[in-house]
Amino acid sequence: MSAEILDGKELSKKIKENLKNEVDKLKEQGINPKLAVIMVGDNSASAVYVKNKSNACKKVGIDFEEFLLPEETTEDELIELIEKLNVDNTVDGILLQSPVPNHININRAFETISPKKDVDGFNAVNVGNLTIGRDCFVSCTPYGVMRMLEEYNIDVAGKTAVVIGRSNIVGKPMLQCLLSKDATVTICHSKTKNLEEVVSKADIVIAAIGKPNFVTGNMIKDGAVVIDVGINRLEDGKLCGDVNFEEASQKASYITPVPGGVGPMTVAMLVENVVKAAKQK
Ligand code: NAD
Repeated sequence: MSAEILDGKELSKKIKENLKNEVDKLKEQGINPKLAVIMVGDNSASAVYVKNKSNACKKVGIDFEEFLLPEETTEDELIELIEKLNVDNTVDGILLQSPVPNHININRAFETISPKKDVDGFNAVNVGNLTIGRDCFVSCTPYGVMRMLEEYNIDVAGKTAVVIGRSNIVGKPMLQCLLSKDATVTICHSKTKNLEEVVSKADIVIAAIGKPNFVTGNMIKDGAVVIDVGINRLEDGKLCGDVNFEEASQKASYITPVPGGVGPMTVAMLVENVVKAAKQK
């Protein structure tokens, strides 16, 4: 079997075109959506991610302001900036790019972002609301995965889904999203003993580990849907996912490429969250 590609690049373009129409209408009503992005210290990978977010906002017509803080910024200084943005009526969404330098407690910073402007969905209020099924800002990567499955008419209800990775930004919200659509979900992580066996029984495999080619073809059930969240830079500079694409695509029914799969969907969902925040103001 050769898998059908879940084309996140193409789909995200379509989503952004629709969002642009929505933003044009909001502007006619005097609403100008704006995202503030904070980055602390120099990090080349973060700089690329921020650039992608900025480009996506510009395409859709969303104002974008970047706050590039030096490495030695204190936690209190960062909190002070977030508090200022919380009460700034021109700002609809606030995003703190991770990682931040070690001397800053990122959770305290996430907790300071107003839940109404928390377009990344990392604040405990949004995480809690996701868990109990209330409307909220959903972390952009799991949200993008769910949108992709929906757009390709892949119904997850009653299916067995295995998420590999239990981070707060991907693995755990991914579990909640799948559960809310009636999948039977298992989370695997670094201490899971029989990982290969668990993964090989899944109808849907979602890899969010951060290890190149970790998921091999022999772990994939025939016809499974394979979603690769991983973004790993190899020594030759090329990007690769957590899934061995060549092998897995021989077994899967659908698979996401890296790049061009989950990454662009994550950015599109961020833009969608900013539009939502602007509409709810
Ligand atoms: P993380 O480092 O916070 O979490 C990694 C998870 O993998 C942990 O929960 C850990 O338990 C698990 N893990 C590590 N080794 C394992 C092993 N041997 N067996 C089973 N589980 C293991 O990472 P993260 O922030 O969740 O990101 C994961 C990957 O997804 C990274 O490559 C990251 O770059 C990528 N990512 C991509 C997007 C996107 O938009 N595509 C967004 C966020 C993260």
